[in-house]
Amino acid sequence: MTRQADVVVIGGGQAGLAAGYHLRRLGLDFIILDAQAEAGGAWQHAWDSLHLFSPAAYSSLPGRPMPVQLGEVYPDAGHVVGYLTEYERRYDLPVRRPVRVTGVHQDGEFLRVETDMGVWRARAVISATGTWWRPFLPAVPGRADFSGRQLHTVEYRSPRDFAGQRVIVVGGGNSGAQIAADLAYDTDLTWATQRPPRFLADDIDGRALFDTATARRRALEEDRTDTGGVASLGDIVAVPPVRAARDAGRLKAAPMFVRLDRDGVVWADGTRAPADAIIWCTGFRPALSHLAPLQLRGRRGHIATTGTRAVDEQRLHLLGYGDWTGPASATLIGVGRPARDAAREVAGMLRA
Ligand code: FAD
Repeated sequence: MTRQADVVVIGGGQAGLAAGYHLRRLGLDFIILDAQAEAGGAWQHAWDSLHLFSPAAYSSLPGRPMPVQLGEVYPDAGHVVGYLTEYERRYDLPVRRPVRVTGVHQDGEFLRVETDMGVWRARAVISATGTWWRPFLPAVPGRADFSGRQLHTVEYRSPRDFAGQRVIVVGGGNSGAQIAADLAYDTDLTWATQRPPRFLADDIDGRALFDTATARRRALEEDRTDTGGVASLGDIVAVPPVRAARDAGRLKAAPMFVRLDRDGVVWADGTRAPADAIIWCTGFRPALSHLAPLQLRGRRGHIATTGTRAVDEQRLHLLGYGDWTGPASATLIGVGRPARDAAREVAGMLRA
């Protein structure tokens, strides 16, 4: 059976919901298709101790401020899931789940959205499928030889699973630092990073990062000198558990090893560290395989966009994957603006 909607939003995480909020306000006919069984997008799958790097007031979607979590300055992932669940209900957003989109195809004046639950025809598509679903692992020699356990950030849950073990955490970003901090007390931890970890000043959290990104966007929009992006400030937000482990001297980073063998990892000078488990906190790539039939991917796997609109398929918008789809669009507070712009552009196109 083929169904029809003017706009199909693919993905019902925060980015898809923010798009839905604006599409609803503009009075458009739309549907949101989400592969998860429950509301909350990737936040449902976070490790147990994950907290946001910004306070609730700096983590809100359009329309509805995130409530404060009792006793926490930085809300935990469960609080975000609760917020997104309530957000969806409050704005009566038409989310169908679980529905997995398998391919988007050009079909004359429509885009044909194929799913595991049938086909939708749409006049416009907003893709908001995130990155959590495409973990990235670097090609380190010997990776297949290691006889211990290997997992990515997406599979990590709790230090309980590694108590007393020799664990190597790889990656100098926020996930690597937070998971290393989590494991710093009850395991024999090695934290390997490509370059020495760069902690942001202790008083800088997501608020300051967002303010910096906003100042930069304004400067660029007004043709003023580039004020510099957040990358110039550092890589790691010193959230309380990271700060505590670092200050206790438990978060010392080793340089990146050059290969793995059966028993563990080996550095360039031949030093070895035997290990029971290696946790790769090495990032993500945008989950875009459903767009492959459109053949739009260019350099670095990204699809060229102007704002959120795909340059080579004007009926397609991308939302939430990273700065290339709008400044800070892969954050809770940052996705509102590109979502609004995408919805307005879609409305303009449909009403033209
Ligand atoms: P997702 O939450 O991944 O939602 C996408 C949805 O699309 C999912 O429900 C998925 O199942 C669905 N989907 C995927 N493919 C398909 C398909 N083919 N068909 C149908 N549905 C599909 N941001 C902040 O603002 N503050 C923070 O403190 C913060 N901390 C972070 C910590 C970590 C470890 C990570 C990884 C990210 C963090 N982020 C943070 C960034 C960002 O807010 C999250 O990654 C967020 O989940 C992105 O939301 P999203 O809606 O773009 O994607």
